[in-house]
Amino acid sequence: MTDTSSIWLPYTQMKTAPEPIEVVSTLDTRIELKDGRTLIDGIASWWTAAHGYNHPYIVEKVQEQLEQMPHVMLGGLVHNPIKKLTSRIAAMLPGSLNKCFVAESGSVSVEVGMKMCLQYYLNRGVKGRSKFVHFRDGYHGDTLGTMGICDPDEGMHSLFGDALVDNYLQELPRTAEEANQFAEWLLKNSNQIAGVITEPLVQGAGGMVFHEPETLQWIRKACDQAGVLMIVDEIFTGFGRTGTMFAIDQAGIIPDVVTLSKALTGGFVPLSIAVAREEIFESFYSDDPMKALMHGPTYMGHALGCAAANASLDLFQENDCLSAVAQINMQLGYELEKCREVACVKDVRTLGAIGVVQTHEGFDVQELKPKFIDAGVWVRPFRDIVYLTPAYTITPDDLTQLTESIYSVLST
Ligand SMILES: *Cc1c(COP(=O)(O)O)cnc(C)c1O
Repeated sequence: MTDTSSIWLPYTQMKTAPEPIEVVSTLDTRIELKDGRTLIDGIASWWTAAHGYNHPYIVEKVQEQLEQMPHVMLGGLVHNPIKKLTSRIAAMLPGSLNKCFVAESGSVSVEVGMKMCLQYYLNRGVKGRSKFVHFRDGYHGDTLGTMGICDPDEGMHSLFGDALVDNYLQELPRTAEEANQFAEWLLKNSNQIAGVITEPLVQGAGGMVFHEPETLQWIRKACDQAGVLMIVDEIFTGFGRTGTMFAIDQAGIIPDVVTLSKALTGGFVPLSIAVAREEIFESFYSDDPMKALMHGPTYMGHALGCAAANASLDLFQENDCLSAVAQINMQLGYELEKCREVACVKDVRTLGAIGVVQTHEGFDVQELKPKFIDAGVWVRPFRDIVYLTPAYTITPDDLTQLTESIYSVLST
C-alpha cells in the first residue's frame, strides 16, 4: 500500500488542503497526471525547467555523469564538472565575481552569502557588523537565517518572534529622493551593517513586484558610500528570465556577492552557487585557519548537478535562448493585455519571460486553482497575482492557451 498520508507538503494546511495531484511523467512543457490528463506547465516548476522538462541533451549529459560518478565529497576532493561550471560562471558574471561556493539549495546559498559578508568584516578585525538590510516584498528563502531577511509577512516574522534575528527592513528606493534618503540612512547605521540584500528587477515570491535598473544602481552607490557589502539574489532572475542572462546586466552593477539556483541546472538537480568578488575572498585568504569560510554542506558541488548545469549552459550557448525570451515577452504583453478589461484585474505587467496579472485587493486568487486544472494548465496563483514563467522552449500555441486560460478563468 502506498498513499500520501506520510508526506508533509510545503506551505500547506494538511487538514484542509485537497488531495494533491499525482504526476507520472513530464516532457517539454507538459505534465502528465496519473488520471490520464495532461497539463501545460505555465510556471516551469517554480522557474527551474527553463529548457522544458527532460531536455534530451541534459538527460544525456546527466546520464554520462551518472555512470562515471554521481557524487563525491568536496572535502579535499574536486572533479571536472565543478571545475568547468565554476570557470564558466566566473566568466559569465561581471567584474571580479569569480569565487564560487557550490551548495544545494537557494536558501543555503543565501546563508553562505550572508556568512561571507559577516566574516569578511570579522576577518579584517571589524566588529559589530552583524545586521543585514533587506527590502519590503523581498524573499530569500525559508531557513531561519534567510527568514530574518524576508518581508516580515512572507517570512511569518510575527509567528516566530524571537527565534528570528532582527535585521533592518527598508523600502526599495524608487525615486532619486528616496535613493538619497536610503543612502543617508545606510551611512548613519553602517557600523552595524554587514550587507544589503536585494532581488534584482523582480521580487519574485513577494508578488512579482518590478523595479527599475536605477534602483539597483542607487543601492550599489549607497553601499559604496557607506562601505557596506551588497548581495544580489539572482536565484529567480538568473539565466535569462528577465531578458538578459542576469538581471544585474540591465543595471550594469557589480555586487559583492551573487546567489544563483532555480534554473541553474535546467530543473534537473538541486544546486546553488554563492559567487563572491575577489576582494571578499581575499579577506579569507590567510595563514590563519580560523579565517577560512566555515561552511560545507554534505552534498556540495554535486557532480550530477554540475553536469546538468554545464549542459544547461551549453544549451544557452547553442540556442538563442534570449531571443526566445524576447519573443515570449512580446506574446505575453500582447495577449495578457486584454485581461485589463476584467473587473477583478488591477494591473498587467511583463518583463522577459514573466507575465503577471495582479488582482484587486479582496479578490481570492486561491479559489481559481481548480479552474486552471480544468482548463488543462498548471499555474499557481498566489498573494494577489496569477503569473506565467514558462520554459523558454514553449510553443506560441501553448503560450496562447496559457494566456487564454488566465483571461477566461478570471472572467468567469
Ligand atoms: C526560491 C528562492 C530562494 C530560495 O531557494 P530554495 O532553493 O527554495 O531554498 C531564495 N531567493 C529567491 C529570490 C528565490 O526565488
